[in-house]
Amino acid sequence: MRIFATGTEAALKLRPDHPLYCFRPAVLREDAQQFMSLFPGDTAYAVKTNGEPMVLKALVEAGVKIFDVASPGEFAAVRAASQDAEMLYMHPVKAQSDIRLALEQYGIRVMSLDHEDEIAKVLRIVRALDLDPGSMTIYVRLATKGHAAYELSKKFGAAPGHAVDLVRRLDRIGFKVGLCFHVGSQVEETESYEAALRSADWVRNRAGVALAGLDVGGGFPARYGDDPARKNKPTPPLEDLMGQLRRDIVEWEFDTLPLTAEPGRVIVARAFSLIVRVLLRKGRRLYINDGIWASLSDSWTGKITLPARFIPDPARRSRNGDASKVTPFKVCGATCDSVDILSRPFWLPETIDTGDWIEIGHIGAYSLALRTRFNGFYPDDFVEVTTPFGADGAAESFASLETMGD
Ligand SMILES: *Cc1c(COP(=O)(O)O)cnc(C)c1O
Repeated sequence: MRIFATGTEAALKLRPDHPLYCFRPAVLREDAQQFMSLFPGDTAYAVKTNGEPMVLKALVEAGVKIFDVASPGEFAAVRAASQDAEMLYMHPVKAQSDIRLALEQYGIRVMSLDHEDEIAKVLRIVRALDLDPGSMTIYVRLATKGHAAYELSKKFGAAPGHAVDLVRRLDRIGFKVGLCFHVGSQVEETESYEAALRSADWVRNRAGVALAGLDVGGGFPARYGDDPARKNKPTPPLEDLMGQLRRDIVEWEFDTLPLTAEPGRVIVARAFSLIVRVLLRKGRRLYINDGIWASLSDSWTGKITLPARFIPDPARRSRNGDASKVTPFKVCGATCDSVDILSRPFWLPETIDTGDWIEIGHIGAYSLALRTRFNGFYPDDFVEVTTPFGADGAAESFASLETMGD
């Protein structure tokens, strides 16, 4: 991979016509180590956030030893990055053949579930392979209510009364039993975690079973751009959120149990930026070479403001407008699909034009992991960048900013 000091340098030297991902391994290492130093337990990186081999390898080098996986593709990706990394198979609804693969080929001994039929599936394989249930830890996933940017408990999780029943069943069979939850993604307040801890405490007391651990899931917020038009308060620093979570864990007396977290976004968001090119400016519209079917689906669906930097093409001799004036542009994606238009404008200098580049920062989470081959476009070019996004000038622009009136 070619190495550059900054995104601007990469853009001006390579003049990329296709989307270019700038990978920042030093930033990834720093964010992973910061999380591990703040969380009072094991850190299991959630592979779905960004499962690129370069990411997994850099995380292993940074000292991450545990990975949260959900599929055979993720088992293989983790194994390729590290022979001895531990994997937690935390998808509550699994194919029987995938459970067998996990237990037999990958030596996975930690799983989660939220239904008795899933217990039956796991038990069938455990018996077939003649494993001791006591060698396995099964986490019962609790349903939670939160206010994350993405609410995930609608899909998975057992209600507290049901969870009590599952915990007792698993214990009777001889499995070690834990409790887990996942409150959502980009959780910007601690009440969601506190409500989940309260619910876990209730289940623990009713079940009357000695628990083997508590897994608090992911959802920790990444720092994106602070949108000046947004009335909401900015994302709290991770130190503050984690400080409150640590106090809540003590208050609900979970500090005596082995703890695990499954962070994704907070670890990998800042590790990538994306350089896109303006293929055409048509009035207040910009046609770019990426879009919702490639790297920008998360920002399209989410309430996330990504910082952006304008990289003017020096080959353009004349420009119209005022370079210091940042104005909204409607952004159309690369495909011919008419829904491939970003739902919120990008705010960029008025002078931007055909052939210029935009570096979109903090795009490491749920971006390239969600790329499709729709319409034959599949961005897959990477360079390494040695300084953090914005080292070559503060972000003056914003992607996916809410309109002023919103
Ligand atoms: C997606 C997911 C995560 C990671 O979530 P982030 O919001 O990226 O931290 C963790 N655990 C589970 C079970 C998940 O599905």
